[in-house]
Amino acid sequence: FYTAEMNARADRRLTLETGLRHALERNEFLLHYQPQVDIVSGEILGAEALIRWQHPDWGLVSPVEFIPLAEETGLILPIGEWVLAEACTQARVWRDAGYADLRIAVNLSGRQLSQKNLVEIVAATLTRCGVARGMLELEITESLLMQDLERIAGTLEALVALGVTVSMDDFGTGYSSLSYLKRLPIDVLKIDQSFVRDISSDPDDAAIVQAIIAMAHSLGIKVIAEGVETMEQLAFLRLHRCDSMQGYYFSQPLPPEQFAELLRRKQRASG
Ligand code: C2E
Ligand code: MG
Ligand code: MG
Repeated sequence: FYTAEMNARADRRLTLETGLRHALERNEFLLHYQPQVDIVSGEILGAEALIRWQHPDWGLVSPVEFIPLAEETGLILPIGEWVLAEACTQARVWRDAGYADLRIAVNLSGRQLSQKNLVEIVAATLTRCGVARGMLELEITESLLMQDLERIAGTLEALVALGVTVSMDDFGTGYSSLSYLKRLPIDVLKIDQSFVRDISSDPDDAAIVQAIIAMAHSLGIKVIAEGVETMEQLAFLRLHRCDSMQGYYFSQPLPPEQFAELLRRKQRASG
């Protein structure tokens, strides 16, 4: 049986999907950049590229809404290639402006990771944009590891051989099998925002975050906390030796011009 609500949802989906099919050619995507900051020095180490869809009629559509649809329809492959090229082009602009050490992090979807020529695409994009290979970080999520682990391990090894680093996004929310950490070349764990949110009030979350940091460090993996919004959260993370952080407390994701302005301001402040 079929309800009006289901009908409306199917309509919305179809409208979104049609819009998504044209969004690339119509140049409706853009990237915002959120700084990743060293917890001790406060230095900006890099930026995560986050896609935005600026639709002429609907305004800004959240990736939470359209990325899953892009994955289902396979549109994530061309969109993902665009994101990679755009982020690398931006990294080159910042390099030329004197920020040669700024790392750029790009989210990879599961579909992209199982794409046969992913390694070639990444290598070609870096070369074309003139970006040093060590400057790119690719963020993967645990959910995509439910697929063929052997093959994914092979792909990640090939990416690492290029000089690219790999981070595990949203850590702790999926099927966090610790064996992944041993079998995959992961450089960085990103502690999910859902654990960070209540670290200063919920003893369970505090314990989980502490344990993740200690475990990662003993495996030689760095840790970044996502969604840091308050001074209290930052103090806790600093006390427990988390390496870096990302969140509204320091800055929201910003359009490239505003990100550059932030870089200039930081540089002036540090003399
Ligand atoms: P993510 O990769 O875990 O990105 C972090 C999300 O948390 C971003 O949401 C960011 O804006 C938000 N955030 C950062 N700091 C704070 C904070 O202090 N408080 C709160 N409440 N939120 C914070 P956004 O930009 O809406 O992206 C959502 C998700 O969409 C991303 O989660 C990622 O999974 C996906 N996504 C975004 N861009 C891309 C892309 O280019 N490719 C792919 N495959 N996925 C993407
Ligand atoms: Mg991410
Ligand atoms: Mg995340």
